[in-house]
Amino acid sequence: MKAFACESLLKELIGLPTPGTNEDAGQKLVRRRLAAVCDRVETDIYGDVLGVVNGKAPTRVLLAAHVDEIGLMVSQVDAQGFVQVNLLGGSRPDALVGQRMHIHTAKGPVLGVIGRKPGEAPKEEIKTADLYLDIGAASRAEAEKLVRPGDTVTCTCGFDRLGGDRVAGRGLDDRAGVAAVVRAMEIIRRERRRLKVAVFALSNVQEEGGRFRGAAVSAFQVMPQAALAVDVCYARDYPKMETRLSGDCKLSGGPTLSLSLTVNRAVNRMLEAAAKAKKIPLQYAVEPTSTGTDGDAIASVGPGVATGVVSIPCRYVHSPSEVISLADLDQTAELIAEFVLRMPAKPDFKPI
Ligand SMILES: [Zn+2]
Repeated sequence: MKAFACESLLKELIGLPTPGTNEDAGQKLVRRRLAAVCDRVETDIYGDVLGVVNGKAPTRVLLAAHVDEIGLMVSQVDAQGFVQVNLLGGSRPDALVGQRMHIHTAKGPVLGVIGRKPGEAPKEEIKTADLYLDIGAASRAEAEKLVRPGDTVTCTCGFDRLGGDRVAGRGLDDRAGVAAVVRAMEIIRRERRRLKVAVFALSNVQEEGGRFRGAAVSAFQVMPQAALAVDVCYARDYPKMETRLSGDCKLSGGPTLSLSLTVNRAVNRMLEAAAKAKKIPLQYAVEPTSTGTDGDAIASVGPGVATGVVSIPCRYVHSPSEVISLADLDQTAELIAEFVLRMPAKPDFKPI
């Protein structure tokens, strides 16, 4: 099988749980990887990890991707010992029925399955309150020895290669973005003599279902003049996906730039020039009002940050088996590295 530069880091990240409030395992790995290529690495009270290269240059560029993945949170244990849950981020109840799940407890992972009634598929929608975990406990007391309210839950399914350059994984949104940012920093390190700006690589928490707090407080800390939010976007190349409003983003078609109120036009022009120089194909996602990414929060920090949103096309977003192309992922890393490396010491992001 063809090898891809981002694959081993992505595989390692997908093997670790990073649900909101419990991202530490993934962040420790990211901190280690960034420490190898950055001048310094910082963390903050939320658990954000920030790697800095050439920090004293007057122009500061932030590259942000969120490490937190969607999941569930334990709410209570019922009288029969079944574990009840609430949604953590944008999990879809219908996608979870029948899945094997890990409850991340203080003493380590506890395995459970999401149960369902036998017989035909229900005609009505499956709601959050219909979900429960069967961990094999015979009573409430037995279950309560193992799990506590607030424990986070993720699917057990991990990283698998599909055909061609495609991979399936849980929480590729947005550990794929984190892998792209770390890989970009490795490229930037290698070509450091070209670098005229300060670069801040951020693996932030609290994107899913939150208020973009991880990205917002980190952007406040850095006060960058420019930023890229690196995330996944909806691929629209499979059955029942609508393309008329947003465009027809495809897997293996290259990184995707957002066209949105969030995005600075000069940043998109610079990304297009970087793509041309590296012969990287680009796609576009039309999302006029906002992008639904950390970019929306970063753009409004301080006097305003010239922001771009670069995305890896992804099928089945927020399901246990998201699918991306590793070629798109490697090209995303190359694109954001080249964007930073060609940036002049004093770029002009003003439209007029
Ligand atoms: Zn995301």
